Amino acid sequence: MHGLMMDTPLVISSILRHAERNYGGREIVSVTADNPRHRYRYSDLCRRTRQLANALDKCALARGDRVATLAWNDYRHLEAYYAIGGAGYVCHTINPRLFAEQIVFIINHAADRILLTDPLFLPLLEKIAGKIGCIERYVVLTDDSHMPATTLKNAMSYESFIGSESESYEWPALDEKDAVALCYTSGTTGDPKGVLYNHRSTVLHAYAGIAPDVLNLSNRDCVLPVVPLFHVNAWGIPYSALMVGAKLVFPGPKMGDGETLYALMEGEDVTLSLGVPTVWMALLQYTEKAGKRLNKLQRTVIGGAAVPESMIRAFRDRHGVVVHQGWGMTEMSPLGTLNSLKAGMQEWPADDILRLQTKAGRGIYGVELRIVDDEQNELPWDGKAYGALQVRGPWICSDYFKLDGSAGAHTADGWFDTGDVATIDPDGFLAITDRTKDVIKSGGEWISSIQVENIAMGHPGVREAAVIGVPHAKWTERPLLVVVAAEGAKLDRDQMLAWFDGKIARWWLPDDVVFVDSIPHTATGKVKKIDLRRQFANYTLPTSPADF
Ligand code: AMP
Repeated sequence: MHGLMMDTPLVISSILRHAERNYGGREIVSVTADNPRHRYRYSDLCRRTRQLANALDKCALARGDRVATLAWNDYRHLEAYYAIGGAGYVCHTINPRLFAEQIVFIINHAADRILLTDPLFLPLLEKIAGKIGCIERYVVLTDDSHMPATTLKNAMSYESFIGSESESYEWPALDEKDAVALCYTSGTTGDPKGVLYNHRSTVLHAYAGIAPDVLNLSNRDCVLPVVPLFHVNAWGIPYSALMVGAKLVFPGPKMGDGETLYALMEGEDVTLSLGVPTVWMALLQYTEKAGKRLNKLQRTVIGGAAVPESMIRAFRDRHGVVVHQGWGMTEMSPLGTLNSLKAGMQEWPADDILRLQTKAGRGIYGVELRIVDDEQNELPWDGKAYGALQVRGPWICSDYFKLDGSAGAHTADGWFDTGDVATIDPDGFLAITDRTKDVIKSGGEWISSIQVENIAMGHPGVREAAVIGVPHAKWTERPLLVVVAAEGAKLDRDQMLAWFDGKIARWWLPDDVVFVDSIPHTATGKVKKIDLRRQFANYTLPTSPADF
């Protein structure tokens, strides 16, 4: 027997309607290419989103057609999110940090028809325009007075595209399983793969995100997402924030700039900010150098890569800011786990809490986790056994766009294989030890590069560190530590290795240390180990390591 409840579809236009009715006066502040501090209100967002939806409807698009964005975080990009998806099209967010060939690949693969772009990306687009013939119209996210001259086909400014459109719009009644957004993974091998979110997954994910043990998001918050709108829906913030009516602050093209981030956080009373560890390095460095303290920020959610203990400590001790580590993936919308304390844990000694905070966190309701061995046997949640991490849930991809199961990313019993290796402790806290491909296999045992990196980054003279396996005749592979020294620091190999004394098992100790000027990163801010391994593929370790 079915229950007797309404079958209201979970679609993103319902979030917009709710936001307008309940929080029309809430502010959205943006840095844009044409305005250093643009301000408007939720009511303006909703009105202009309807104008954009009307403009898109006039472009003879069919339901499900892809409209792409190549843009930083600002109010116009947010309008695009809601107008494109809400009107029944698919918002394909493109990461401008990808290589030009990858951008060409994904635009053609997605068969995008319209491209909304920041003016800053016009030179890039003009270079590749001949290879992306599927784009029929370019809409430049600015007004006529700031519109640069361009050779792009049917280019017009965003403000003139929407300017004469009606402010009323009837959002179509969509099926909640209709696609709403598309984001390509920035995988380090092979072609990028498209993850196609639907309305239902997006709404459920955003709903889960606001819970107290997840982002703990409320109307009283002011949120600054440094995580880009072009990367996995900015971790759901565009939807979660509008559900609760939080104030939003967007850093536009300045998201890597510590000074701007600091000014926005202090000036706009930001309580919560989210981003990958590399961004926070820039902010912490800026505050350190300028002798400034973050007075308004209460918490940061950091994910996308392992968070070093030293970073959590710096936020805690110098700024009184609590770091919540999160783990997720493009394929997971992205939220999977979030690190928040369980009952009783707040009584723990401060350093025990700190150690716990270096873990990726606990599974969010809606995401089932399991770790398995090579034979797919489930491993215990004892904090020691490590295995392939698999997930299942309503906001996790069931396949990749147009790949029809050929990616082989799912198990026979329907779980998604994340490609991460992890432990889970009895309290349910997940710790990522490596990507499967980055694991260092020494003498048949695994060394967690993430744990070794974490310790290295705790050294005050280290700006960034990465550990990779290099071939070794006896042990198959041994760890090599690659270090970028902090400004002014004088570090040598022996000092660096001595830092590990008593902190890790002897056989985990890197065999050598190399100092470099910079470590390569992916377009989403992760250390690009594949490049490092290539760079040091023929590296000869200095001495044969002692028997352990
Ligand atoms: P992406 O799809 O680009 O967001 O990348 C997802 C991958 O980032 C995951 O599969 C992990 O390998 C890595 N990742 C995300 N969060 C964390 C974390 N907290 N600790 C370690 N790795 C992480």
